[in-house]
Formats: sequence, C-alpha cells, structure tokens
Amino acid sequence: MIDLSEIKQKLSFPQDVVILSHRNPDGDAIGSSLGFAGFLRKMGHNVKVVLPSDYPLIFSFMKGIDDIIIFDHDRAKALDIIKQATVIACLDFNGLDRIDKIGPTVEESTAYKILIDHHLDPEPFADFIYSKTSASSTCELVFTLIEEMNGVNKLDLYDAENLFVGILTDTGTFKYSTNEDTYRVASELKKRGVDDYYLNDAIYNSYTEKQLKLLGHCLANRMEVIPEHKAAIIAITKQDFQDFTIERGDTESVVNYMLMIKGIEVAAFIREQPTIVKLSLRSKGDISVQEIARNHFNGGGHKNASGGSAYAKLEDVVTRFKSILPKYIK
Ligand code: 5GP
Ligand code: MN
Repeated sequence: MIDLSEIKQKLSFPQDVVILSHRNPDGDAIGSSLGFAGFLRKMGHNVKVVLPSDYPLIFSFMKGIDDIIIFDHDRAKALDIIKQATVIACLDFNGLDRIDKIGPTVEESTAYKILIDHHLDPEPFADFIYSKTSASSTCELVFTLIEEMNGVNKLDLYDAENLFVGILTDTGTFKYSTNEDTYRVASELKKRGVDDYYLNDAIYNSYTEKQLKLLGHCLANRMEVIPEHKAAIIAITKQDFQDFTIERGDTESVVNYMLMIKGIEVAAFIREQPTIVKLSLRSKGDISVQEIARNHFNGGGHKNASGGSAYAKLEDVVTRFKSILPKYIK
C-alpha cells in the first residue's frame, strides 16, 4: 500500500474539500464522489462535489446527488468553490483535460490535490496519487483507501450504496474488470446493508419507452457488422438526435449490445454531435480500444472501454475507424 502519512495529516483537521469527477459522469464517477464525500463529511470536513456536466437521470435516486454542483449550470459558483478549496480530490479521471474548462482552475490552485483513479496513463498532477488500473472501479479504490485509513465504520448505508453503484456499473454488473478485491469490497458494502437487487433494479430496469425504441432503431437500422474484423459499428446522425429527441444518458449502453454478437470483439458507437463526433469504444480480451482511442481519436480510458472524439464528418470518422481496424485486430 502507498504511503498514507501525508494524506492522513492533511485530513486530520477540517478542510474545505471539493471533489471533482469527469464530464459526462457515469455511475462510478458519481458513486465514488458521493461515497468519498460522505466519508469525508463524517471526518468533519466541509465537502462539495462539482461535476463538469450533468448526470444521466437514471442516477437521480442516489442519495446526495441533488447537492452536486454542475459546472455547465452554474459556472461562477463551481469555479468559486474550487478556488476556495483547501483540498481537491479528483476521482475517476486521469488527466485535467477530462474536466474541460475546470482544468486550469485546478492547475492554478495551491490546494492539496488527491487523485483516485483506475484509468490508464494517469497524469502526475496530484500530491497524493492512488491509481490502480487493475481495480474494477474508482469506487473499489475509494473503499480500500477508506479501509487503509481505518474509516470503514464511518460509512453509512447511503455511502455504501453510492460506492456499490460504481462497482456495479463499471463492471457491467460483475461481468468484466473484476478482481478479488471487487467481490470482497462488494461483500463489505453488502454487510453494511446494501440491497444490490434494489440498486440493479433502479439502474437497469429504468429505461423509458423512448430509450428502448432508440436502442431498437440503433440495432435495426444503424448497425454495421464486419465479421472479418470481429467488429461492429453503430453510427448515429444529428438527424437521429432530433428524431428521437436524444438527451443525456439516452444512448448510455447502446455500445455494449454489439459485443453480444458471437465473434464480435470490438464495438464502436459513433455519434454526430453539433460540433464534434464522439466515439465510445468497447472490446474483449487483448484488443486495446484504449490504444485506438489514444492514437486516433484524441481519447483514452481503459483497455476494453474507451472513448474519444474527432472534428470531422461522421462518414469520415466511420471510414477512419474501419481503416485502422486491421492494425489492432489480430
Ligand atoms: P464512454 O464510452 O462510456 O463515454 O467512456 C468509456 C471510458 O472511456 C470511460 O472510462 C471514460 O472515462 C473514457 N473516455 C470517454 N471519452 C473520453 C475522451 O474523450 N478522452 C479520454 N481520455 N477518455 C475518455
Ligand atoms: Mn470508473
């Protein structure tokens, strides 16, 4: 385990803590932020959570989510809080470009900076770095850090639920990215009262009719399967966004469905946005979509789950993706 003496000393008296996570926050970004916030508050700190952009509605049930400050909605307040913070905790992201316009304010701040993350290639911008790419989720790491600080007894049911959410969502309900600690931590959280059936139901049985129809449209009309490269692509246009009034979170899990086809090992979900084309990439086994995202689409993430973007036409991004496939699919 890493040296905890400095972080323990910093957290031994009340601090103004701001917890930050990445744009387009997922269950792990939100869960780890809220769970860590709950722990730090019970240690006597004044804690605020700031996210660059809003969260998907399916996570609305999470305790404490209403108190999160969204930079896109209230820029001045968000930046003010970060400027005043004496401790800045960066959770579930590996570089300041992942928090967009908040990045420079964090960089300029003289606050004590904590980074807890499981993405590849973490940037060394923090004073205390707890980065483990073999961890299922940042939530798993937040829990093991709290354990190392002998603080597990400070976690209440809601903190435990919030941490469980990140493990659940980042492992696709314990289907991938798991290790021994994942199950151990999940067990510890369940001991604290977590009802995993309730959380699964709240998160995964929460589609709206529109979202399910959109999924149907993507699979029936927008999917291209390329068996020779073990790949499948779904590309959606600005028009699709209009036709289905697609909002944040509506397309969250579309990319995963392609990997349900036998023999398909890499999946790309490509969407045309007002000024940019965004990609969500997923793979199985040894194929690294992180390398594809990093080398070709100005992105990154994990070996089997990455994202990126391009300033180009949708068709050109699809063509570029297809043309690089042979290099990465052995
Ligand atoms: P998603 O496809 O669900 O948006 O993201 C999958 C993973 O890739 C997440 O871990 C996310 O943090 C990371 N990711 C998504 N988009 C980007 C990006 O533009 N840049 C980097 N560095 N990582 C990204
Ligand atoms: Mn994560």
